[in-house]
Amino acid sequence: MSDVNCPYCGYGNQINHDDGFGYREDEKHQQECSDCEKTFVFTTSISYHYEPEKAICLNGGDHEFEPTFTFPIEHTKMECELCWERRVPTDQEMVGILEVRSREFQKAQKSLPPTQEKEHG
Ligand SMILES: [Zn+2]
Ligand SMILES: [Zn+2]
Repeated sequence: MSDVNCPYCGYGNQINHDDGFGYREDEKHQQECSDCEKTFVFTTSISYHYEPEKAICLNGGDHEFEPTFTFPIEHTKMECELCWERRVPTDQEMVGILEVRSREFQKAQKSLPPTQEKEHG
C-alpha cells in the first residue's frame, strides 16, 4: 500500500517514517518521488477513529472472561472480552484451559496434510 501519490506522475510512494518523519501535522515534509525523481511536499493529517462498545461489566454487570491464547499455556490469562481487564485464571479454570488446548492441539495434528502413502490395491 502506498502512502502518497506523486503530484507529478501519480506514482505511489511510501513515506519513510524512520525517526518519526512525516508524522508531524501542520508542517510541510519533502519527499522525492522514487519514480520521476521530482521533489514534492506533503502535509500530514492524522485522524482518529473511535468505536464505542457497551461494557456491562463496568456498570454493575459481570466481566466476560475468556482465556487468552498465550504460549506457554501456563502463562494464559483470563481477559474480559468487554473491557480487556486481565486476571490470573483460577486453578479450576487452568484445568479447563489445558484440556481445551490439548484437544485443539490434537485436532491440529489430525488436520495436517496426510503423508504421501502409496495406495494399496
Ligand atoms: Zn513522480
Ligand atoms: Zn470487563
